[in-house]
Amino acid sequence: MSEKCSICGVVEVFSTDPDRDYCLTCWMSGDYFDQMLCSDERSNMLQRIRQLPNVVTARVFHAGDSAFQLAIVLTDGRMVMPGLGGNINGQQLVMPFVPPADQGWGVLVRRPVEADNEWAATTSPLPEKYDDDELVELVAGLDVALP
Ligand SMILES: [Zn+2]
Repeated sequence: MSEKCSICGVVEVFSTDPDRDYCLTCWMSGDYFDQMLCSDERSNMLQRIRQLPNVVTARVFHAGDSAFQLAIVLTDGRMVMPGLGGNINGQQLVMPFVPPADQGWGVLVRRPVEADNEWAATTSPLPEKYDDDELVELVAGLDVALP
């Protein structure tokens, strides 16, 4: 027996996995993670980020290969890209990934720079990891301090 997708409420879900109650479109579009990050379980972090005065947009998109990226565009044009943070051989890494709540976020900040290619940007990984509440506070404070 099929049921409607728990996210869009439109598409029928025919999964043999009883825990999967969302459709492929809501998975591939990032809506699944959007809803997760807007839930009480994640302290409504995404709604709180969207309400900040220095935030233009904040959303999750499919970055390819089943990896998802939270991207937050600030009013000054910078993009905050939280993901899976790590440190390998002294190199600070942030991968496109929505980590579980207990793992914390690594954060990249991209700043567009003038160059021949309009896509040019500097990318700075922040040295710390942030839990959901700390990430909201970080984004709120980024209109003054920046790496
Ligand atoms: Zn759906």
